[in-house]
Amino acid sequence: MPIRRVLPNLKFLVLSALLACSGEQPAASGGAGADSLRLRADAGFNGPTSLTYLQVALKFGTRVPGSAGHRATGDWIVSEMRARGATVTEQAWTHTTTAGQTVPMRNIVAQFNPAATKRVLYMTHWDTRPKAEKAPAADTLTPIVGANDGTSGIALFLSIADALKAKPTTIGVDLVFVDGEDFGEFGPPEVNVFIGSQYFARHLPSVGYSPAIAVVWDMIGDRSLQIFQETISLEIAPETVARVWRTAESLGYAGKFIQQPKYAVRDDHVSLHAVGIKAIDVIDIDYPYHHTLEDTADKVSVESLQVVGDVAMAVIRDLARP
Ligand SMILES: [Zn+2]
Repeated sequence: MPIRRVLPNLKFLVLSALLACSGEQPAASGGAGADSLRLRADAGFNGPTSLTYLQVALKFGTRVPGSAGHRATGDWIVSEMRARGATVTEQAWTHTTTAGQTVPMRNIVAQFNPAATKRVLYMTHWDTRPKAEKAPAADTLTPIVGANDGTSGIALFLSIADALKAKPTTIGVDLVFVDGEDFGEFGPPEVNVFIGSQYFARHLPSVGYSPAIAVVWDMIGDRSLQIFQETISLEIAPETVARVWRTAESLGYAGKFIQQPKYAVRDDHVSLHAVGIKAIDVIDIDYPYHHTLEDTADKVSVESLQVVGDVAMAVIRDLARP
């Protein structure tokens, strides 16, 4: 059975009451059959290119809301999304923290096929954390690089946009980059975190906005990737969890997307639950470099980006089938 662990300060991790005891883990991802390889090719996701996007994003510097790196990266994301044919809307506002500090915030909503009624909502946070509270004491007030935590999602979404541009889909796809996920304290109580997803939930793209599925992607680039099912997601949207992990299995990735629950992680998906959108969280929270200065590009691998990108795109391709 999975090891019972509670890692402190990981986004208010709660030990799952649903820990599975189902025995052996699925085989590793090697040895994919012809069907899996065909599905991967059909997904059209380019992992190596995705890794180069991650490296480009990191060159802008850390992305603490209000910083120069934050502004420059946001401008870059907007222009890259427009270049791939997305209709881009920016949500800009000022967040006032509980301590009275005002912080500029910016969500970027990139819509493909904005008029389509059947839609997929993918969300990722693009900000990076202003402090490294899990680093040695001298470093705790230094902003993290966030190669995995904050940047892997950007890289994933840029390459999804590439795939959608190269081979358009008939359904709508909304790639939403939310700000301020990692700004404050995860507590409990949660203070000044999930700021952008909460704002998005209060300012949805259209009246009656109701995506067919909604998935938050967070910390998906870890080179030792193992994504367990997240238990809040399982409670709220078991059908979406099943869809994503079933898709991963069909691609030959059952060794990376483990079909077992492990942790409850409060993340941006919870903000969407508040407005009735049954979102799930795809996250590899077992990451030793989380909220330290060691969350750097060498901890992310092209293979992991490829696996998650294939799954994300195959879910879209599958939903688009008549
Ligand atoms: Zn974080």
